[in-house]
Amino acid sequence: VTDAVLAIDIGGTKLAAALVRADGVLVRTAQRPTPVTTNADEVWSALTRVVDEIDAGVVRAVGIGCGGPMRGGLVSPLNIPAWRDFPLPDRVRALVADVPVVLRNDAIAMAVGEQALGAGRGARAFLGIVVSTGVGGGLVIDGEAVPGPTGNAGHIGHVVVEADGPPCVCGGRGCLEAVARGPAVVAWAQDQGWSADEPDGRSLVASARGGDPIALAALTRAGRALGIACASTGALLDLDAIAVGGGFAAAGNLLLAPTMAAFERHAGMAFVRRCRIVPAALGSDAGLVGAGVLAHAAADGGTD
Ligand SMILES: [Zn+2]
Repeated sequence: VTDAVLAIDIGGTKLAAALVRADGVLVRTAQRPTPVTTNADEVWSALTRVVDEIDAGVVRAVGIGCGGPMRGGLVSPLNIPAWRDFPLPDRVRALVADVPVVLRNDAIAMAVGEQALGAGRGARAFLGIVVSTGVGGGLVIDGEAVPGPTGNAGHIGHVVVEADGPPCVCGGRGCLEAVARGPAVVAWAQDQGWSADEPDGRSLVASARGGDPIALAALTRAGRALGIACASTGALLDLDAIAVGGGFAAAGNLLLAPTMAAFERHAGMAFVRRCRIVPAALGSDAGLVGAGVLAHAAADGGTD
């Protein structure tokens, strides 16, 4: 399949790859759990096995979505401790023929996928948000991903939503991520007296579905923070649409309804209020679709 590209999505729990057509359709996919290890080469060889399973042959280009931070061609994904300043694009280049290799933050890849084929279709100014163990985001403006000079533009997780809010892993205080990332929401609920056999995001959402008032309050608090961040971002960027995805977004309306309510409260001007806030549509495929779209663009435009 010579008109396809190879897409790679690297996350803390799984490594995935796909052959992606020019229209964004995933032709063939494979995935493996991300090895829990401190050995960089162990993670790399797991990734090469996933790529081997795709049996891509000659492709036009390779697109990679990977957790940040990253600088130059070196990645240090927070969720993969074994990789610190790991030369991921160089390693991938050694696997494939002489074709463009494009590396982007995984949230940017997700946003590109959602804008091309998912919840952001038709939006000229679009923000994709990933709410899981962290909170990430990616911007797509006029059909182009906006990575910024260091690859981190659109990083809504570190937009401040509470001036005196909880400390954030980034060193700041009151960031959206400090309030709304899954583990922070679970911890807040536990502080309020909520408990479960396996206290995690999934069990918290299940409790909320069952009507548990603390679990509901925890999701409402997280949604409110998201809505405030969306109102600020919409005002800054004149957004058409914001899609909310990631594992914790499986809470559905328990998270999105308070998000929209807070957005309504804080978004005043008509150009801000017109922004649609919608659930992401592609699920865990969004990153692969986006990496594929980015790779096709690199092959077409010769940029990498
Ligand atoms: Zn932060």
